[in-house]
Order: sequence, then structure tokens, then C-alpha cells
Amino acid sequence: MAKHLAPKPKHELNFIKKNPKRESGQRTPAPERKAFKLPAFLTRSRDGGRSLPGLGRHPLVFAGIAGVLLIVLHFLPLEGWMVPAAYAVPVILAAIEHIVNAMEEIRAGRFLNDALITVAAALLLFAAALFNEAVLLLVLTTLVSHFEKRLSERGDAEQARMAEILPRYAVRVTETGTERVDPETVVPGDILQVAAGERIPLDGVVIEGITTIDTAAVSGQRSPWAVNTGYKVYSGCRNLTSDIRIRVSRPYDRSTVKKIVHIAETAPDFDSEQEVLAARFRRYYTPAVALLALVIGVAVPAFRGSWLSWLSRAAVLLILGRTAADAFAIPLIYRRALSLASGMGVFIKGKDCLEAMARTETVIFDKTGTITEGRYAVTDAFPVKMSEKQLLTIAAAAESFSRHPIAAAIREAAGNPDERMVKAVKIKEVPGRGVSAFVGKRQVYVGNAAHLEEHGIRCNIPSRPGTAIHVAVDEHYCGYLLVTDKVRRRAFDALETLRVNGIKKLVLLSGDVISVARPIASRLNFDMLRAELRPEEKVKAVDYLMKNKGQRSAIAFVGEGENSGRIMTGADVGVAMGSLGSDQALISGDVMIMDRDIFKVPKIFGLSRAAYRVATENFALGTGVSALLVLLSALGVLSPLAAVIVDFILSAGLLANTLRIK
Ligand code: ADP
Ligand code: MG
Repeated sequence: MAKHLAPKPKHELNFIKKNPKRESGQRTPAPERKAFKLPAFLTRSRDGGRSLPGLGRHPLVFAGIAGVLLIVLHFLPLEGWMVPAAYAVPVILAAIEHIVNAMEEIRAGRFLNDALITVAAALLLFAAALFNEAVLLLVLTTLVSHFEKRLSERGDAEQARMAEILPRYAVRVTETGTERVDPETVVPGDILQVAAGERIPLDGVVIEGITTIDTAAVSGQRSPWAVNTGYKVYSGCRNLTSDIRIRVSRPYDRSTVKKIVHIAETAPDFDSEQEVLAARFRRYYTPAVALLALVIGVAVPAFRGSWLSWLSRAAVLLILGRTAADAFAIPLIYRRALSLASGMGVFIKGKDCLEAMARTETVIFDKTGTITEGRYAVTDAFPVKMSEKQLLTIAAAAESFSRHPIAAAIREAAGNPDERMVKAVKIKEVPGRGVSAFVGKRQVYVGNAAHLEEHGIRCNIPSRPGTAIHVAVDEHYCGYLLVTDKVRRRAFDALETLRVNGIKKLVLLSGDVISVARPIASRLNFDMLRAELRPEEKVKAVDYLMKNKGQRSAIAFVGEGENSGRIMTGADVGVAMGSLGSDQALISGDVMIMDRDIFKVPKIFGLSRAAYRVATENFALGTGVSALLVLLSALGVLSPLAAVIVDFILSAGLLANTLRIK
């Protein structure tokens, strides 16, 4: 029974970083209104078309027919009352789409909506005997909203892809065979069977079988991974070649797939500043223009007569005010950027993070695991009064439980643990320093010089440059090991690309000795280096930079999720590399780069900048051009036909501009 109670997670996943803006709850869900029923033939069918029997289900069909009718009517010799009667047909056909949309919006509580304004403007144009304009307005608007829908569907497709990778079942191995179970009921320690071609439902370790897995959905990497027994595998990846068995290591709620799907789903809920700005603009602009339209359409002609010309001016104003109402496609822009990012295995916690990245001028790197591979190797040993083997064995014993990459290197260099070897107890790890432990009855210290000197042990000065890990037993100095880590192959190019993308200052922080950090910093053209820092000193260094930055500029911190989580939260944007399988990264990062491809750092900053630039352009162009058009048409300079067409070009252009984000 107790077996089925999933162990309580050590820490509740807090996906949302403490951020005052978010805590004040900017999201205000649309208030629930009492619904009234639309006639059945006007309601939307599931595929977004309409269930009007016989007449096709696609909104463009009506618009197309209306367009053709318009041309046909042009050549017919109509006179008198027959003209409005004939033109009423295409107007009604083309208006159906908008009427349905308007009713749906009203049902959702948005009364002054796009579609309603469009219909009203078309009616005014019709009343002013501008039949061509009325039809054209409705048809062109249908085209634009169709285009917009297609664009936003791409974002939805990405979300759908995310939902797709959530497992629906898991195949648990029991004593008598296998059973299909709900993934939520699987607990760590359970053995699962994953057939070739299926997705891995929960995170675990392979205990049987050799296969290749496709990690694209979670890491963005195209090339499959080869895995063998003992390898970690992550939920959401597809098992490609042969059946395997895995031992589950995390409950479903903490599984990789669950976490990234959660992030991908909630990210679009957060508004970027530009969206807020555009929404605010729209809140005043659209009603103001509508009011102006009312004045011009009703009040002015009451005094000056010539109703028709003033009516058409009012209609044009309505049309122009409406363009602002879709907020210049800005929400679309950020959603597109988010989905492009998740397509390459980068998950961003919100559109505001994306915007902060666009404003970033300083990027701080935590050396290990970002600039370097984070995989140390012991390259040399300098024992004092003992053999190399003894030095390594003692050090490895003390490091037996450390998760630091240096500890892993030492354990590996020491080889397989000897059966007779004494186990280490009372292990204490000091971040940025090293470990202390009792091996048998003997007190062992392993770490950097500062670590040993804190315990009154003097260390030899290493004869060669490199990261020296000193070892002492019972207050006696026993020598040191040299460990090295490799700079990532594409680190230089990645950093240069970051500069091209507008990053002005690159800072390197490291806990490593200056003799190792400095050559790396100068080779890669860092502007600032701080080395030999303990983790809390790294936090202070980030704070210092945060206090001394320009008001509009932001600072990003790129670290390896597992080690630099706490430091990351101090910066405006925390970018966690190698997040796959790391709880810590998913908690403290704002941007999760699932694999360890350093090139994704400049890519994602480039993406955020492109989104920001396009949003700025759309906002400026949208407000500027439509304000100008409003002025011109209120003065009667712009003919209704020109207004309809210019407005169409503007809306379509703003939408097309979003495609420039790549
Ligand atoms: P960074 O991630 O910048 O390399 P860390 O804070 O992880 O810095 O480590 C800084 C230094 O502390 C290491 O270079 C090493 O000398 C020492 N150190 C930290 N943890 C250990 C450990 N488990 N074993 C040995 N040395 C360690
Ligand atoms: Mg580290």
C-alpha cells in the first residue's frame, strides 16, 4: 500500500520566479458572462469552419463568392432601387463571417470588438451608397483575419506538439508480466517496458536493452542518442530501435515532459510590456475614434447637411480605429518567438522574459559547464610521501558522494572502488571549496588551496598551471591532483555572435583559480573576469552588476542549471544550460536550454531581439500610419475606397512583418 504513495517532492516546483510584477497578477481572465445561444447554423464547428449546410465550411468561400459577385454586378446594367438590392447580396454573404465573430466576442464580454466595428462600417458605407467599398471592406477584412488565424495557428501547433508528447499510459513490468497503467500511478523504482517506437513515459535509467532515442521533442536535437544500460533517459523522448526496460527515477509530476509542457503552456499567459502598451493604446484609441466617427457621422451633418459624404467619413474612421484594435499583432509576435524557441529545445517561462532578453546588454557566464564542457579530467597527480594511486584512492573516497564535476573526474581516475577500501563517512561539502570527510578514522580534506588553508594546512604551490585539487589526511599535506576542463568547441563563435546580436558586455565568473580562468577570458574576449569566487561571492558579483546597470538595460546570467541555480535568480534573466534532467534548472531558470549547445545562447538572444524589433516596428507603424489616416479621412482628403485599401495593406503588412522573426 505504502508503495503507491508517491514520495513527497523535496521541494515544491515553483515554476514562477519571484517577480513582483507577476505576483500582482497581471493576468485578468475575461469575466464569465451569461451566455446566450447562437442559432445553430452560425456557431463554429470544431474545425473552425461553420456548419452552414451545403454552403461549404470555410469563411473564405463566402468572401470569394462575394468578390466574384462584385465583379459580375459591375457589368450588369442596374438602375434605381435594383442597385442597392443587388449589392445587398454580396454584402450579406461577406458579412456573415463578421457577424458570427462579433456575436462570439460579445458573448465573451467584448462589446466594442473588431468584427462589430467592421459590420457597422460596412453598413455605413452601404447607407452612403458606397457599395463597392462596403463589399471590399468585408472581403479584405476576411482575408486579413484569415491570414492572422493561420499565423496564430502555427503557435498553437507548437503547443499541440507539446501536449502530444505527454504520455497517456505506461507499461509497468509486474511479477507475472506487464500491465498498462496511468503514468500518474507509477512511482520511482517501478520498472517500465518501453517498446520500440513508443515514447518514454517517465524519467528513468535503462536497466535492460540497447537502443537509440529521439530526444528532439525535449532537447531540440535532431540526431538520436545511443543509450545502453545505466544511461539516463527522459520522458517525452521516443524510443527508436528496440525494446528497453527502465527503472523510474522520478514521479510523473516531476518528470521532464510534465515540466516542459507546463512551461510551454503557461508562457503565453504572461504579457510583455509592449503588449500591455499596445493594449492600453487600444483601450483609448478605438473608442476615441468610434466617438469621432459618431460625431462626424451624426452631429456634423445635423448642422451642415450632406449626410452621405459625412456618413462615409464616419465609416472610414471606424475602419481605421479598428486596425488598432488588434494591437498590431504584437501578442502574435511574442507567441511566435516562444514557439520557435521551444522548437529548438529552449523553453522560456514567459513573454516578459523574452522581452527582458531583448533588452539585455550584459551577459554573465558562469564558467563551468557553459563556456567549458563541465566535464573535468584528472591530468596529473603530485603526491607527497605516498603513491599516486594512494592519493587518488583517498581523494576518490572523500569525493564518493559529491555531484561536482571535479569529484566525478577524481572518482573516474581512481578507477573501480576496491572492495577492501574504507568507506567515507561524515562527508561535508563546502561549495566553491571542496569536501571534508572521515575515511576510516582519518580526517581527509579535498579541495582548493583556500579550503585546506582554512583548516590550517599549507599547500604546495602547483608547478604547472591548472586547477589543483589538494589533498590532506590528518592535517598532513599529501599533494595535489591537476584537473582540466575543455573550453567548448564553438564558445568563441557563440560569444562573437552574441556581440553581433547587440550584447555589449560579457562577464566571466568562476570559482576556479585565476591562472585557469584568465587565459580563457582573454582568448574569448570577455570584458570582465572575476575568478576564485565562492558561490556567495558570485551572487554578490551579480548584485553589483545589477545595481550598476542602465535603467532600461537588463542583465542575463548563463549558468549550468544544477550548480548555478541560486546565482541565476539574482539577474533579470537566468539562462540555464543543460537543463534536461535537472530539477534545479527548471526551478530557477527563466530560460531553459535543454541540451548543452552553447550556440543556442546567441540564437535565443537573436530571436528575442528580432521579436522586440518587429513589435516596436508594428507598434510605431501601426499607431503612426493609422493616426495619419484618421486625420486625412476626418478632413475628407482620403477617399473611402483608398482608406479601405490602405487599411488592408497596413494590416496585412503588420501581420507579414511577424514572419521576419526566424
Ligand atoms: P565553478 O563552477 O566556477 O568552477 P565551483 O564553485 O563549482 O566553481 O568550484 C570552485 C572551486 O572549488 C573548484 O575549482 C574546486 O577547486 C573547488 N571545489 C568545489 N567543489 C569541489 C569538490 N567537490 N571537490 C574538489 N574541489 C572542489
Ligand atoms: Mg560550478
